[in-house]
Amino acid sequence: MAEPTRLAELTTLGVGGAPERMLVATDSDELVAQLTELWQHDEPWMVLGGGSNTFATDHDIDGTVVLVRTRGIERITTDAGVVLRVQAGETWDDLVAYAVDNGLAGIEALSGIPGSVGAAPIQNIGAYGQELSSVLLGIELLDHETGERAHVPASALGLGYRTSVLKRHGGSDAEREAVVLSVDLLLTESSDGRGLPVAYEQLAKALDVQLGDRVELARVRDAVIALRRSKGMVLDPADRDTFSAGSFFTNPIVTEQAARTLPPDAPRWPQDEIAETATVIPLDGSSDIVAPPPIQTTTQREVKLSAAWLIEHSSIHRGFHLPGSRASISSKHTLALTNQGNARSDDIAALARFVQSRVRSEFGITLRPEPVLIDIEL
Ligand SMILES: Cc1cc2nc3c(=O)[nH]c(=O)nc-3n(C[C@H](O)[C@H](O)[C@H](O)COP(=O)(O)OP(=O)(O)OC[C@H]3O[C@@H](n4cnc5c(N)ncnc54)[C@H](O)[C@@H]3O)c2cc1C
Repeated sequence: MAEPTRLAELTTLGVGGAPERMLVATDSDELVAQLTELWQHDEPWMVLGGGSNTFATDHDIDGTVVLVRTRGIERITTDAGVVLRVQAGETWDDLVAYAVDNGLAGIEALSGIPGSVGAAPIQNIGAYGQELSSVLLGIELLDHETGERAHVPASALGLGYRTSVLKRHGGSDAEREAVVLSVDLLLTESSDGRGLPVAYEQLAKALDVQLGDRVELARVRDAVIALRRSKGMVLDPADRDTFSAGSFFTNPIVTEQAARTLPPDAPRWPQDEIAETATVIPLDGSSDIVAPPPIQTTTQREVKLSAAWLIEHSSIHRGFHLPGSRASISSKHTLALTNQGNARSDDIAALARFVQSRVRSEFGITLRPEPVLIDIEL
């Protein structure tokens, strides 16, 4: 048992109170033993990795926080490619550096994302044209319901845009409550030292190549980190704009019909999936002699919108803050809510609610927070 530390010291937003108890696990057997013991009691619990996607209240926090500090990268060569089996507590960006140094392609554009490897599948991290889901083979987890360790293929994790069945959206329970013990990634051994085709316009421009070109892994990594740094998206103790949870809001996904109501210059990205909405009229008690009513099915394509554009067009600018508040929109990126020093969780929540209400009244769209909320409602 460790002395409970305030989550303000353990999260990149720099806010959050102390839990009743705190445990630190440095190998996976210890993590399993601690969680198994903890789950005997019907008390609140949560795990914390790097604290870069967690927004917690400054009040004391009920229950136990388990810090996942397990380590280890195992390399397994298979017919399909190289599998890296990585313990949950490894630092994500150290893993990217390892892959790049060892000529393994597939995660180079995910350079500079803070946090732990175990949290990466929770919201299916993504950036600059790559997403974890494209290289994730599966994970080992400890299932809260059964108490068992299990290997689960990526296909069973419901991975989508900043989501999975393991994510506690807002502060709700996850669809599947479980703790990630390790992660298996299938990477491509690069025979020429180049990465996967560049799949993001801004990155291609920074590298001075065309979309689809392949570029040396280390060059991609350096370019991504430089781009991220210019937006305050690489942790830097000297830069208050990086005291954030990264993008605070997800890009809203709406129906094509709803997207049509926005001004023509609003960015829109049509999604691949087609949403089927069916109106089924239930049969009543006397219907056994009546033909069932027809099922009306409409097909609606979904469209992803830019949360940053919506905020900027709701008269909220970089550097914006409420009067007297130490929480502000980053001076480099409209989507990041930052702690400019001594901000309280209430300051950050008030700013988030203000942004949500401005966008709602301007466009009728509710922005959803991306970080996991601990005893905070938005
Ligand atoms: C400056 C900055 C830039 C960012 N840029 C990006 C980006 O480009 N793309 C992106 O996708 N994200 C980005 N993020 C968000 C964040 O870095 C990722 O979501 C990251 O994966 C969170 O890792 P963590 O270990 O810090 O998670 P934490 O904040 O510690 O935890 C987040 C959630 O995951 C749960 N969790 C943590 N570890 C485990 C585990 N082993 N098993 C089960 N649940 C677990 C926690 O309980 C919590 O609910 C950024 C954040 C910051 C601060």
